[in-house]
Amino acid sequence: MVDVILKKNRDKPARQYHPWVYSGAIDKVIGSVEAGETVTVRDNRKEFIAYGYYNPHSQVCVRLLEWDEGAYPDDRWWHFRLERAVRNRDNLLKNPDLTDCGRLVFGEADFLPGLIVDRYADFLAVQFLTMGVEKKKKVIVDSLFELMHPTGIYERSDVEVRLLEGLDKRKGVLDGVEPPEVIPVLENGLSFRVNIKNGHKTGFYLDQRDNRLSANAYAEKKEVLDCFSYTGAFAVYLLKGGATSVTLLDASASSLQLARENIALNSSDIPTVRFLRGDAFTLLRQLHESGSWYDMIVLDPPKFAFARGHVKKALAAYKDVNLLALKLLRPDGILVTFSCSGTVSVDDFQTAVFWASVDARCRLQFLQTLSHPSDHPVPASFPEGRYLKGLICRRV
Ligand code: SAH
Repeated sequence: MVDVILKKNRDKPARQYHPWVYSGAIDKVIGSVEAGETVTVRDNRKEFIAYGYYNPHSQVCVRLLEWDEGAYPDDRWWHFRLERAVRNRDNLLKNPDLTDCGRLVFGEADFLPGLIVDRYADFLAVQFLTMGVEKKKKVIVDSLFELMHPTGIYERSDVEVRLLEGLDKRKGVLDGVEPPEVIPVLENGLSFRVNIKNGHKTGFYLDQRDNRLSANAYAEKKEVLDCFSYTGAFAVYLLKGGATSVTLLDASASSLQLARENIALNSSDIPTVRFLRGDAFTLLRQLHESGSWYDMIVLDPPKFAFARGHVKKALAAYKDVNLLALKLLRPDGILVTFSCSGTVSVDDFQTAVFWASVDARCRLQFLQTLSHPSDHPVPASFPEGRYLKGLICRRV
């Protein structure tokens, strides 16, 4: 067993259950170790701190797995840890007639760093983001099959972060049957078609489930704009909540087509629905110039900040897009606005929205603060895991 010895006074985060050990905190590695192998992390007096898996190619050199010295992470450990993560979602998925999709494993948040497992009806979509979990693929796939009895397990490891780990991008069937092009799923009793082979992330923004429901409560008799609509999931919830018209805006034609299908799936009597394809910054400006107004606007843009160095630019973009939206919002209208950039804090995001309101010459009330749902938990020791933040605001 290889020992990773930390520098003096650099052991505190690891002792306090933070899952990452950066290369700068490491004094030396005793023994020869390959990327992805399990190591023991010790302080500078050689006292045990935790087990983790090692990757010298990554800035996060060790991702920690287990703080109990007697519980070495062998294959049985992986099975047991997966079983706990899955069982902890029983409450969410106990009524599959209402909701049959959700996140079963959320990496660091489940102390299974680098691993994402999402359930879509009878299929599982899995991402192996690090060398450590790539090496454990067999036990992970076998355990998931045993625990969930899915029709098929599909890999969606076609993500950039794998390159940083020295891994290639990959997707395909891992076990069972190949999923069809679209899988019908239910979320809060509403129907969606999910493409787990080619959709964003593993096919659907499962992290917005509770937020869609929160937004739904404000939709009655509203003319709504769903900006960055993707699958149209917000639009579907807002129509269900009694919106009188919905405009969906997205840069991608295929996403708008998917949204069209999802809207048709959920209501036979569809009020006015418009689809606008193009860049949101340009189209929001054009809508304003043409005199359009809305009673409710959802802004769910893609990630603007990919690293700490991008935060300032990202905040300027959040301010801009919120300003453009506020110019289209009637007095007493509702803005539901999000940032999914992990490096942007709640406070900074709220400040960007505040400056947007000052420039739009309107006063705003913050009605609700939103985050991700309970199948996307945030470890107390890893607050940076709270990547999604949202605000429901009223323009007064
Ligand atoms: N609200 C969606 C998720 C949005 S994901 C849901 O609940 O499922 C972000 C979406 O923004 C993607 O569909 C992407 O196509 C779109 N997008 C990215 N950049 C854009 C831009 N500049 N203008 C308009 N849409 C954009």
